[in-house]
Amino acid sequence: MATDHITCPECGEEIGSTDQMDVEEVQEIRSKPRGGIGYGDATQNLYLCKNCRKPLGIGTRDTE
Ligand SMILES: [Zn+2]
Repeated sequence: MATDHITCPECGEEIGSTDQMDVEEVQEIRSKPRGGIGYGDATQNLYLCKNCRKPLGIGTRDTE
């Protein structure tokens, strides 16, 4: 369910668009059945609060 904004749990900043967040590209990591890990194919965006740098979530950018 989509909301109009998110609130940073760390500093309480209300964030209404990705302009208010810092974005870092991160490689997907997948766990493997026997306890190993490895990189997946996807690169995803890690969104951080611009105010306090707390990671808020991960996602792919909408490209329509
Ligand atoms: Zn914050």
